[in-house]
Amino acid sequence: MSKVGSESNPLRVAIVGSGPAGFYTVSNFLKHTDLCVEMDMFERLPTPFGLVRAGVAPDHQKYKTVTRAYDKSAQHPSFRFFGNVEYGTDITLADLKEHYHQVMFATGAPSDRNLGIPGEDLIGSHSATDFVAWYNGHPDCTGFEFDLSQENVAVIGLGNVAIDVARILCKTDAELMTTDMADYALDALRASKVKNVYVLGRRGPAQAAFTPPEIKEMGELEDADVFVPVAEVTLDPASVAELEASGDKNVKKNVAVIEEFSQRTVHDKSRHLTIRFLVSPTELIGEDGKVTAIRIVKNEAYADDKGNVKARATDEEEIIPVGMVFRSVGYRGAPVAEIPFDDYNGTIRNIEGRITDDTDNALPGMYVAGWIKRGPTGVIGTNKTDAQETVNHMAEDARSGVVFEGAKSAEAIVALLKSRKLDVITYSDWNKIDQHEVSKGEASNRPRVKLTNIDEMLEVLSS
Ligand code: NAP
Repeated sequence: MSKVGSESNPLRVAIVGSGPAGFYTVSNFLKHTDLCVEMDMFERLPTPFGLVRAGVAPDHQKYKTVTRAYDKSAQHPSFRFFGNVEYGTDITLADLKEHYHQVMFATGAPSDRNLGIPGEDLIGSHSATDFVAWYNGHPDCTGFEFDLSQENVAVIGLGNVAIDVARILCKTDAELMTTDMADYALDALRASKVKNVYVLGRRGPAQAAFTPPEIKEMGELEDADVFVPVAEVTLDPASVAELEASGDKNVKKNVAVIEEFSQRTVHDKSRHLTIRFLVSPTELIGEDGKVTAIRIVKNEAYADDKGNVKARATDEEEIIPVGMVFRSVGYRGAPVAEIPFDDYNGTIRNIEGRITDDTDNALPGMYVAGWIKRGPTGVIGTNKTDAQETVNHMAEDARSGVVFEGAKSAEAIVALLKSRKLDVITYSDWNKIDQHEVSKGEASNRPRVKLTNIDEMLEVLSS
């Protein structure tokens, strides 16, 4: 048999997951022009793009334009999409090893971190990531319920997800009507009684994880005033020293925006968005099993022995009456069937994208990219360099013949999926679903009207 990666013996790669890390794997491989590669992408949903479709805020359409580049990769003759095929259920590791030379996992971080405080499981306490997936129409989450009849809501955390959730809760119907939010979520938010949204951060403005455009936007909402208590804005000496040492422009911008918010005196809009710093939740208080308030403790900032600014609790407590809480303290990766998992970090065990066993030995032919490789950090574009690192190792290994032996032909996997009677969605099927959604959106001046149910998607394809 000729060398793997030659025209007569193309390097056959399976990519599990169709979010940014999966698609950047494809575009990075196409740069290795000395290798003849065939890439098959497996996705458990009929629709591609992972969090770009189901995580990126529906009112931030400009971030979603990255899918144009993914479309371009998908047009390459060496690429195939197998949507509606779930790894671990419809297809196993043994199947992939039999049909491919290399397998890459780009399954993201589908779960969320816990707070570990009493009351976390009360009715009305939700993970922000569930709310995001719900309003974005993720088929797994359409049945979720959020009691938007509550007037007071807390969002815990100072990351971009917390900001997204708070902003969506504060936007008017007119603002939301221009989005591709799921129709049922638009209806629910139209009837929302939410008046006060509290975003609660455990450290100060100089340590906030949000980015400047996202926080700035909070001061530009049509019918919600932003309020920041002046006392929580003044930077402590440790933060001043940290900022001087780093000179981080984004942090400076964040701090300036927050300072400006704290100076605002006119508060005459219907909704009130309060951003608090140096406060930590210690308990969700409930009645009859439902959240009625959140107990917070005020923190003080201090520098640890490496100069990092941390927060520690004082003995000053406060209770804020709220009927719903969104915990937005980060995503978390979930174990992937038959793949070594680092439970502490919530990632697949790996060194620079090569999957390793418990003793750090690389498992030949097995790779990982994206959030399930490095943890849930960074913006969409961060996955480009992340995937590049892994793909460079994959190409290097392929050139030296470190691959699964005897990968079956491109047709064999199609025959296997057919034998399992799966409703496999191809990329051209997805294009039809996409066109259907976009044309439904045109009528109401929206980017698209999403199909949120897998049967509905299959129906569109069969009609
Ligand atoms: P994140 O950026 O990691 O933020 C998590 C926040 O939770 C931090 O403020 C963190 O505070 C806080 N936190 C953690 N544990 C806590 C605890 N026990 N009590 C109170 N607060 C706690 O996570 P994310 O917001 O889920 O975002 C995930 C990634 O997606 C990020 O890289 C984000 O930038 C990206 N994203 C980007 C956009 C965008 O570009 N528009 C939108 C959404 C998401 P500490 O800093 O003190 O740990």
